[in-house]
Amino acid sequence: MPDTTIADRLAGIRALIDKAARERAVQGPEVTLVAVSKTHGQDAVLAAMAAGATHFGENRVQEAAAKFSDLRASHDFRLHLIGGLQTNKAAEAMALCDMIESLDRPKLAVAIETLAVRGVRLPDLLVQVNIGDEPQKSGIPTHEADRFIGESIARFGPKLCGLMAIPPAGLDPTPYFQALARLADKHRLAVRSMGMSADFEIAIAQGATHVRVGSALFGAR
Ligand SMILES: *Cc1c(COP(=O)(O)O)cnc(C)c1O
Repeated sequence: MPDTTIADRLAGIRALIDKAARERAVQGPEVTLVAVSKTHGQDAVLAAMAAGATHFGENRVQEAAAKFSDLRASHDFRLHLIGGLQTNKAAEAMALCDMIESLDRPKLAVAIETLAVRGVRLPDLLVQVNIGDEPQKSGIPTHEADRFIGESIARFGPKLCGLMAIPPAGLDPTPYFQALARLADKHRLAVRSMGMSADFEIAIAQGATHVRVGSALFGAR
């Protein structure tokens, strides 16, 4: 894919983000675009960086390391892990990523805290909530969310800075985005990572601070 395609798409997405942010009822903080580069090569990442993208999302630690590790020395970017994290990969994820958006269970929280106590750098963390309580999706179930978020804030302090969710496919996402925003409000958490290629404008209307956009930027996977 030529660089111009990614640059043009990025400009188009940014224009839609800005418009949605301007139009929302309550003025919120700026919206951060997380460019989800999973399955796409380093060439696509470099094209997006050249076009001004600064935040990237990957769902696998190994793939993220292969694509981004050698760019640290030469490029300025923030890498977000947005996929499920096994505890045995937690140390590598912490060393590699600036934010882990997929803290979804107590066992993982314990593993991350143990590593941080031993000196592994602690990235910013988001609790992933299974906001539609779908059996096949990861994320803490909604009935456990209050307790897990509270425990995670106690454990990690300000490094636990927000929530992430993926609403059920095929339904109006608005009530799910509203539910996540309410949960973040209740726990006084600033970051709300919600909205993907198909629904980022709706998410911004409901207070998203981070949108995770893959296919609309990089093309189909
Ligand atoms: C793949 C993925 C995205 C991006 O999805 P698109 O529909 O391609 O924009 C966003 N968030 C998560 C958690 C993902 O796994």
